[in-house]
Amino acid sequence: DFDFASRVDRVEPSATLAISNLANELEADGIDVVDLSVGEPDFDTPENIKRAAEDSLAAGDTGYTSSNGIPELREAIAEKLRADGIDCAADNVVVTPGGKQALYEIFHTLIDGADGRSPSASGTSSRTGDEVVLLDPAWVSYEAQAKMAGADLSRVDLSPYDFQLEPALDDLAETVSDDTELLVVNSPSNPTGAVYSDAALEGVRDLAVDHDVTVISDEMYDEITYGVEQTSLGSLDGMGEHTITVNGFSKAYAMTGWRLGYFCAPESFVSQAGKIQSHSVSCAVNFVQHAGIEALRNTDEAVGEMREAFRERRDMLADLFADHGVDVPVGDGAFYMMLPVSDDDQAWCEGAIEDAHVATVPGSAFGTPGYARLSYAASTERLREGVERLADGGYI
Ligand code: PLP
Repeated sequence: DFDFASRVDRVEPSATLAISNLANELEADGIDVVDLSVGEPDFDTPENIKRAAEDSLAAGDTGYTSSNGIPELREAIAEKLRADGIDCAADNVVVTPGGKQALYEIFHTLIDGADGRSPSASGTSSRTGDEVVLLDPAWVSYEAQAKMAGADLSRVDLSPYDFQLEPALDDLAETVSDDTELLVVNSPSNPTGAVYSDAALEGVRDLAVDHDVTVISDEMYDEITYGVEQTSLGSLDGMGEHTITVNGFSKAYAMTGWRLGYFCAPESFVSQAGKIQSHSVSCAVNFVQHAGIEALRNTDEAVGEMREAFRERRDMLADLFADHGVDVPVGDGAFYMMLPVSDDDQAWCEGAIEDAHVATVPGSAFGTPGYARLSYAASTERLREGVERLADGGYI
């Protein structure tokens, strides 16, 4: 018998896994499943990015790189972030194998569990580990990664406010205190698609500065917005020292399988987090990093086309639900929406896949029961078919 570490006991297996297992079983039986559960673009990576990787491979870029990434890519990323208003130089950037690894390193750089924790600022805390605050619904891996690092979680529910942050600022102010170590903000949001207003981000800034809290700004979907501009939290006055900006190539450039992401942080943070990177993954893949430069510099058109396709699908899907009398809070970014379903969202999702053969992810996986997350990274025909099946099966 293994004597498992508490860090693995603290986390649950991914809820999306249960859904995709069910979908796979059905498909193995020859049943066609409309899969609206996936969190990745249904597009192929743009050709010029693939070519850049091929050229780089051919040129022999096959060895380790410096742990924090090749200088040209770090500079290209810093350039992109400066264009977003963030004060960032190449030395502030760590290139990681995926945004998920960036987040993992950030949590493990900042969070102490019960054993390593310094006494609470107020001296009255009964918490077991450093406090991480999440805005619910929150992307599934924040909770798992925070818990693996030993954090104690506090959660602010945005569902009463159509998933917007601005009206929830009072709730957030009641939750964030001098004891809070980290707050995670993800705009545009997975799973709601919400893009937070500037006023909301300014509210976050005020709390972060007042309570000396570090904020992870996960901007993975910043290129996928519809008619609004996403403001980078780290560009706000006073937020440079309080923000760690996380981003990656998976969603904007349809590069999920390439595993390329990054974070930008003050240099003191980079040198500590760099220890985790160098002693775990060493570096991101060499020729993939070279392709990343091409992605950042020469893909405006391809990204624009994908954005336009997502927008069309979002509008169509919202209209189809409206035709069935279902009002879905629709966000201005990413490619997800949260469909209000029965209180037992787990049972709803299981039924929807088993009877109607439509795969979705239960809202409870994101901390918000009563909803199912739908991804509209699927063709318009499949989306239409999915809604029809849900309606025929009495699920909407
Ligand atoms: N952050 C959010 C909000 C995401 O939705 C995802 C992917 O689903 C990630 C981070 C991680 O993406 P990757 O590791 O592919 O860069």
